[in-house]
Amino acid sequence: MMHVAIIGAGQAGAALAARLRSAGHIGAITLIGDEPVAPYQRPPLSKAYLLGEMPLDRLLLRAPDFWAAQDIWLVTGTPVTAVDAAARTLRMGDETLAWDHLAFTTGAVVRRLPAAIGGDLPGVHYVRTLADVDGMAPEFVAGRRVLIVGGGYIGLEAAAVAAKKGLRVTVVEAAPRILQRVAAPETSDYFRALHTAHGVAVLEGTGLARLTGAGRVTGAELADGRQLACDFAIVGVGILPATALAEAAGLVLDNGIATDDQGRTSAPQVWAAGDCASFPHAGGRLRLESVPGAIDMAECVAENILGAGKTYVPKPWFWSDQYDVKLQIAGLNTGYDRVIVRDGGAVRSHWYYRGDRLLAVDAMNDPRGFMIARRLIDAGRSADPVRVADPATDLKALLA
Ligand code: FAD
Repeated sequence: MMHVAIIGAGQAGAALAARLRSAGHIGAITLIGDEPVAPYQRPPLSKAYLLGEMPLDRLLLRAPDFWAAQDIWLVTGTPVTAVDAAARTLRMGDETLAWDHLAFTTGAVVRRLPAAIGGDLPGVHYVRTLADVDGMAPEFVAGRRVLIVGGGYIGLEAAAVAAKKGLRVTVVEAAPRILQRVAAPETSDYFRALHTAHGVAVLEGTGLARLTGAGRVTGAELADGRQLACDFAIVGVGILPATALAEAAGLVLDNGIATDDQGRTSAPQVWAAGDCASFPHAGGRLRLESVPGAIDMAECVAENILGAGKTYVPKPWFWSDQYDVKLQIAGLNTGYDRVIVRDGGAVRSHWYYRGDRLLAVDAMNDPRGFMIARRLIDAGRSADPVRVADPATDLKALLA
C-alpha cells in the first residue's frame, strides 16, 4: 500500500495528512516534525498566547488523540536530515524510511541579525516557534523597556502585546515607514497612529547599526548614531523559506521549493506546500506566508497525490490583531496604482486598485467590508471606486 511521508509537522503538514485520510487514502501516512510538540497554530504566538490569554492546549491544531485515531504516525522532535529522491528514502534519527510519495512542508526560518552586530546576544529574541515565545514571555514585565527591530506584522503585534502589558516599547524600522513591504501608506499611517496612541515610540527610516551589551543586550546603536537603552529586544525582520533539505536532495529552488501548478516539485512523486513552496502565478512565481495559503495548498497537494490532477488556485487572505483592532486583508496588492479609503469612523477599509481592477483590501474592524471584498476578488470582479469611497454605499450591493 502507498506510503506518504510528510516532512514538517506544522500548519501545512497537518492539513496535508488530514486531507489525505479524509480524501480516502488507506495507506500509511508518516508526519515528521522537528519541534517537540504536536502540530500547532503560530498566529496566536504573537497575539493571544504571548498576552497570556490562550492556553497551550488551544494552540494545538488537533486534539491529542486525533493522529492515532486517523492512523497517522506523528513523529515529533525528530528532524529529517537527508532525502534520497531517487531511492525514495529519507533519514530521521538513526532510521531510514522508505516512501512512495514525499511532501515537503518545512515552512520557514526567521532571518536573524548577524552575530557581529549583536544578533545572538542573550536577551535578543526571534518569533517563529512556541519555544521562541515561551523563551521571551518571562521578559514581558511591566515597566521594562523592549526594543522591537522591524515594523512588519510580527514586530507590531509583539509591540501591541508589550504595550498592553505595560512595557515601554520602541519600534525601529529601517524603511521610511512601518509595513512598507506589505501595505499602502494609508495603512501604515493608521497603524502608526494606533501604536503612538498606546505610547509606543515608532522610529521609521532608522536603521539599526548594532545591538549592544556585554553578556546580554542592554541597548542599541542606530544608523544615525542615536543610542537607545533596552532590557531586551525582539527581532522581526522577515523569514526565509526552509529549503536546505530540499536543496541537498537536488530539488529545483526558486524563492522556495519550486512546484508546478499542482504542487509537484522537480523530483517524481515529491511535492511541496506552505511557506516553503513557490508555485506558478500570473506569469511568475508566488510564495505565500499565511495560514490560509498553507492549508489550501496542502489540501490541494493531498488530493493530487491521490491523483485528482487539481490546479492550485490561491485565494490569498491574511489577518493581524493589534490592541482592539482586527485587520483582515483580502487579495494581493502587488502592482496597485491607487488606494481608495472607505472611512466609516470605527470601521475603515483601504481598497487597492490597478486601473479599474480591484486587487486587495485592508479592512480594519470591518469584517463586512473584508468579506464582500474577498468575494469580489476571489470571483475576479471589481467594484466601482466612487461607490466604494462613499461610506453611505451598502457594500452588499456591490455583489449584485
Ligand atoms: P510551519 O507552520 O512553520 O511548519 C513547518 C514545520 O516544519 C515547522 O514545525 C518546522 O520546524 C518543521 N521542519 C522544518 N524542517 C524540518 C525537518 N528537516 N525535519 C522535520 N521538521 C522540519 N499567518 C496568518 O495567516 N495570519 C496570522 O495572523 C499569522 N501570524 C503569525 C504569527 C507568527 C508569530 C508567526 C511565526 C507566523 C504567523 N503567520 C500568520 C504565518 C503562518 O503561521 C505560516 O504561514 C504558517 O504556519 C505556514 O505553515 P507551514 O506548515 O508552511 O510552516
